Amino acid sequence: MDYIEQAMNRAEKSNCKTDTNFFQALKEVLVSIRPLMDAHPEYKTHNIIERIIAPNRAIHFKIEWLDDNNGVQVNNGYRIQFNNALGPYKGGVRFHPSVNPDILKFLAFEQIFKNAITGLHIGGAKGGADFDPKRKSDKEIMKFCQAFMTAFYNSIGADIDILGGDIGVGAREVGYLFGQYKQLTNSYDSIITSKPLALGGSLGRTEATGYGLVYFTQTLLEDKGETLKGKICVISGSGNVAIHAIEKLYDTGAIPVTCSDSKGTIHDKNGIDLALLKKIKLERRASLEYYATERKSAVYMKKDAYTDDSSHVWDIPCYAAFPCATQNELCEVGVKALLANDVKVVAEGANMPSTPEAIELLQQHKVLFAPAKAANAGGVAVSVLEMSQNNSLHYLPFDVIDNRLKEIMGRIYKDIKEVCETHDMELDLLAGANILGFQRVADAMIMQGV
Ligand code: NDP
Repeated sequence: MDYIEQAMNRAEKSNCKTDTNFFQALKEVLVSIRPLMDAHPEYKTHNIIERIIAPNRAIHFKIEWLDDNNGVQVNNGYRIQFNNALGPYKGGVRFHPSVNPDILKFLAFEQIFKNAITGLHIGGAKGGADFDPKRKSDKEIMKFCQAFMTAFYNSIGADIDILGGDIGVGAREVGYLFGQYKQLTNSYDSIITSKPLALGGSLGRTEATGYGLVYFTQTLLEDKGETLKGKICVISGSGNVAIHAIEKLYDTGAIPVTCSDSKGTIHDKNGIDLALLKKIKLERRASLEYYATERKSAVYMKKDAYTDDSSHVWDIPCYAAFPCATQNELCEVGVKALLANDVKVVAEGANMPSTPEAIELLQQHKVLFAPAKAANAGGVAVSVLEMSQNNSLHYLPFDVIDNRLKEIMGRIYKDIKEVCETHDMELDLLAGANILGFQRVADAMIMQGV
């Protein structure tokens, strides 16, 4: 049994028994870094795998808050500060009833390598709470955010750990979290990104993950002599990432025809009406059902056909598919439907949206595959630009940020391609991304000693 297998066995026997999402993320990284480990025996000498797969610190805290009826509510809050070899911890906060230590551990683990791939100096972390923001009043959201920050504000800081948005945490929540930190510490430090512009947010941050996803996909396709122009695209999700991916797809001349939420899918053969989608999801915070009542060309399909797949999105014939909702939403059954319709490219906007079986099937059929660690790194990259603007008090115009984002996504693609060439591999963006991120973190760990 070699070093990688030993590490995987030990992880499976110990902390991974119930951490199925974390173990899935871990296995994917460890399996793909084999060429790197063969070329660098020093990583084994320094026992890098054992050290990199355990979080530096995992904080679990209780959040007590008062609802609108003065009822006392209790939630679980977490922050996983996984690795800070490259810089201060950095990663979003998720508010969703499904949040648990396993999900946050997988997200924080992925974040280490994604952040490293950007080439920027940030470590990896993730946090959140099992709080459901749906059907809560604005005041309840504010009370919850304040209680969340009060419970762990002394574990973060502008040079220690910087938060950001994720599922259930948008500009409104970020504003309340930031306000409470300021209240508790009397400081305006940049401890959270994705802030509203009025609080020192960056132009282009809201759009960055979705736009970056499309820039990365365009770079990959251009390298293959292809383009998105005139191509039918399917997108899952209808939150921040999905909406801005759809927006940028239109700019490229593509035709995005689907979006989905936790209840169902919209197929609009004329192309998604972006203004209507924004009105329903961002202003009214309502279900997609209403989209079909206002648009004749659209069909609404309730989420009931699959038990293990996100929706009907993958049944719609397309050239490119963009899973942008949540983890493990694209399973084997979804890939089979995509393959039956001759899909050419799958690019991940959400974190770990494809199951291992789904990825294997895509790779077997030579479908171009852009993994989340690289393809959705635009969000965190612009978050770092937000941090640097906060520190310098010099704020940049939208087009400057957008050009930097484009450059960063192009560089990520080029760096990963070079890694594949160095290791005599065919272009495998998943393995290349894992090797690139792992190597940068491992080298920094070795330089800092044990
Ligand atoms: P949002 O909260 O803005 O949107 C999430 C969307 O996904 C909502 O439309 C939600 O539906 C839908 N959704 C959630 N669960 C399911 C499900 N099981 N089936 C179908 N749809 C579902 O989150 P974001 O857009 O910010 O994040 C989406 C993904 O992208 C996550 O994996 C996140 O970690 C990742 N990501 C986000 C970044 C960012 O900058 N925001 C950066 C990098 C990655 P409903 O409206 O019904 O709740």
